[in-house]
Amino acid sequence: MASPSYLIVGAGVFGVSTAYHLIQKYPSSSVTLVDRDAFDAEQRVAASWDWNKVVRADYDDVVYCKLAIEAQDIFKNDPVWQPYFHQTGVYWICRSDYAKNVIGHHEELGRGDDIAALPVGEARKLYGGLFEDSNYDGAREVLVNRAGGWAAAGDSLRAITKRALDLGVEYVTAEAASLRFDAQTGACSGVDTAGGGCLAGDKVILCTGAYTPKLLELSAFGSGIPELSSGSRILAAGIATGMARLDEKTYESYENMPVGFQGYTAEHGKPFIGSLPPTKDRELKWWGAKIFSNTREVLPGRQVSAPPSTKDYSQWKVSRRLKQDIAEQRHLWYGSKSKDWPMSKHRICWDAFTSSSDFIISPHPAAKGLYVATCGSFHGYKFFPVLGKYVVQMLEGNLSPELQARWAWDRERPDSSLNCEYPNSELNDLLDSAARL
Ligand SMILES: Cc1cc2nc3c(=O)[nH]c(=O)nc-3n(C[C@H](O)[C@H](O)[C@H](O)COP(=O)(O)OP(=O)(O)OC[C@H]3O[C@@H](n4cnc5c(N)ncnc54)[C@H](O)[C@@H]3O)c2cc1C
Repeated sequence: MASPSYLIVGAGVFGVSTAYHLIQKYPSSSVTLVDRDAFDAEQRVAASWDWNKVVRADYDDVVYCKLAIEAQDIFKNDPVWQPYFHQTGVYWICRSDYAKNVIGHHEELGRGDDIAALPVGEARKLYGGLFEDSNYDGAREVLVNRAGGWAAAGDSLRAITKRALDLGVEYVTAEAASLRFDAQTGACSGVDTAGGGCLAGDKVILCTGAYTPKLLELSAFGSGIPELSSGSRILAAGIATGMARLDEKTYESYENMPVGFQGYTAEHGKPFIGSLPPTKDRELKWWGAKIFSNTREVLPGRQVSAPPSTKDYSQWKVSRRLKQDIAEQRHLWYGSKSKDWPMSKHRICWDAFTSSSDFIISPHPAAKGLYVATCGSFHGYKFFPVLGKYVVQMLEGNLSPELQARWAWDRERPDSSLNCEYPNSELNDLLDSAARL
């Protein structure tokens, strides 16, 4: 039997990892990646495109802990991934039993990583006292895991895409406007592009990140298959990140810092706030506490959250209120000594969320040949090396029952109020008054 052709829509970590795994497993098959941005574009809208992302295995959920360890080991040991990984360690200020749970999982999984929960007073002295001025209000202890770190996200995305292309994957720069369906069988057969063309595939895999709910809504309308809509399963949401450029002297103090996390729970009403070591351009990054959806009428009577409809998702248009949020979260980490650090960048990064923060890696039940693999829920990058392995298992019906249940399209989902990372506001309420739409 001839092998099926694969059309992967979206070239972030979910799409590229899938293409890379597919072409290695089936070298002579037709695998096409389509994305609205060129893979080597100067700037991209993908959440996966960025300067740096945290790569850590400190999960208090054992399923993701195991998966993150698998991915981290590849980042650390595989020469393809190694150049992008920086093992700086992770410093996590815990306000719950987080550290205890993580350490328990690592022990259970037989890991010998250098991981410990330290009393606050002891932890503050580490790393030359870099986190002496951080906020420890309500902190129980600090989890220090020297095995974690960060990866050069955009660089790795470009490099792995290039490897996949060298192995035979085709890359098309185009926007998928709507899904196509076979008139006789009703199976998904490809996409119509915004430029008026179409792309075909026996298996169409949506890896479209934050744009997924809108694409499905438009396709439901266009095809007359209402069950395509994602409904309350997926919410597109944004988070602002900021970068400060350090002067040479300050850079020297922070150059070897670990990744830092301020951990909160749903009771604190705040998401965890992370900060990453400076890049070689001396830019130190962290993110804000506001996580917002952008709900608009995309069709008469149909409200869906999606990134702004400009070509670049308006990712560089960051309001004063969001910049203020960034400034406040910097203070949590670096205290008053950071107040005059010049900001070099603000960006809004859009991702697809589920209320449990689980991915969706599943056949779409509304049409044969259609699959969904996305919903990084603000933590998907670190799994880049292994995502495709599991997407291929899903395509072939071999995903373990445990993962199948976790990543299913249809499943019971927890109340989002229990998830402190779940979007808590609307972009429109965070815009400067003159810019409100
Ligand atoms: C501020 C922020 C910080 C984060 N930090 C971390 C971190 O430190 N560590 C970590 O592990 N994770 C982190 N994440 C999460 C991680 O970045 C995402 O979960 C992950 O990158 C999502 O990957 P994706 O492939 O689903 O989506 P994306 O990377 O967004 O890719 C989707 C792709 O689909 C394309 N696309 C969409 N619609 C269409 C269309 N209609 N036609 C053609 N192409 C289309 C887009 O152009 C894009 O390239 C962070 C996320 C954010 C927002």
